[in-house]
Amino acid sequence: MKTKALESWERDMLRCIRCAYCFVDCPILTELGWESAGARSKVILSYGLKEDEIECNQLIKDRLFQCCLCAQCEINCPAKVEVGGVVRAARKDLVEAGHYFEAHRVMREMVKKTGNVYGEEKKDFHYPKVGAEFALFVGCVGKHREEESLKKTVALLKKLGVSLTSIDEVCCGGVFGDVGFQASPEDAEHIKEEVKKAKVKKLLTTCPMCYRTFKEDPRFEGLGVEVLHITELLEKLDLPVKTNRKITYHDPCDLGRHSDLYDVPRNVIRKFAPDFQEMSKNRENAHCCGAGGGVRGSFTRLSIDMAKKRLQEAIDTGAEVLLTECASCLHNLKNARKRKQKIQIYNISEYLSLLMDGEVG
Ligand code: SF4
Ligand code: SF4
Repeated sequence: MKTKALESWERDMLRCIRCAYCFVDCPILTELGWESAGARSKVILSYGLKEDEIECNQLIKDRLFQCCLCAQCEINCPAKVEVGGVVRAARKDLVEAGHYFEAHRVMREMVKKTGNVYGEEKKDFHYPKVGAEFALFVGCVGKHREEESLKKTVALLKKLGVSLTSIDEVCCGGVFGDVGFQASPEDAEHIKEEVKKAKVKKLLTTCPMCYRTFKEDPRFEGLGVEVLHITELLEKLDLPVKTNRKITYHDPCDLGRHSDLYDVPRNVIRKFAPDFQEMSKNRENAHCCGAGGGVRGSFTRLSIDMAKKRLQEAIDTGAEVLLTECASCLHNLKNARKRKQKIQIYNISEYLSLLMDGEVG
């Protein structure tokens, strides 16, 4: 098997001292229980593929795709091995050799056909207004799987007087780099062109994955506007509501470990919810909800089992409300909730909108 992508990660793979600190708090290893599921093993398997010492089989393929790319292992790794980079490169080589997951291939096809990963008909969240300060980019999951939450977010921005427009969205493509497929350069050009046409100063994202993609993906070089996550905007605005309910917060991996936005969402929450309680695992040690890295598409049961554990951690705080600000985390955590579990789950912006309308306490 050719391993062109892995070639450039040789130094990271050789830097691994096999200490297994990366096993601590790896959500996949916790679920599966097999050492071969941990980050160390993913590094060893990747090196074996690169050196042509092993051939890909179903188990090796599974292990390399059973990773949320949550970066918990990188926080714990004393040798600073960039496990996510190695895994992404391994996946790229596996896909190149035909070892892909059908769910991921279908997502890529759907984006080609419809502009979103679900193959859904285009939904109009379009508020054309040339010269607004912000263009809102909502992303595939928000638009097609958490539409009610998204509507509340949009309503909040209007209520707060944010000068807002939207663009003709296509998928930002961030997920494809994670699952070994190439993201579309044409789609990136389309988004850049739309942003230019809207004549905005800033691109506002609700999805942490889109946020990261616009900031880090070379396809978006020359975007020409500042990219903000919605929590960064809310932190600066006056929020004319308060709740006495006990609130806790789940850090989305793409916002926390990958973008270093830990204080910003907490600052927003503390403005309207003085009774804030951290989960035992928070900030850089927050457990992943299990939705990331393409795991939800290829290992749905595993993904939900991780979300169940994270949800239980939220319940253990005694909070009545679990907040996050990521449509993927929101969707997975809500799917994991059992009817008898009373905790309510919202995006921060959605909850604020409901508070302002008096629909929640
Ligand atoms: S913590 Fe880092 S150095 Fe230690 S085994 Fe894991 S990847 Fe290798
Ligand atoms: S990125 Fe997350 S899921 Fe993947 S090996 Fe590291 S800790 Fe485990």
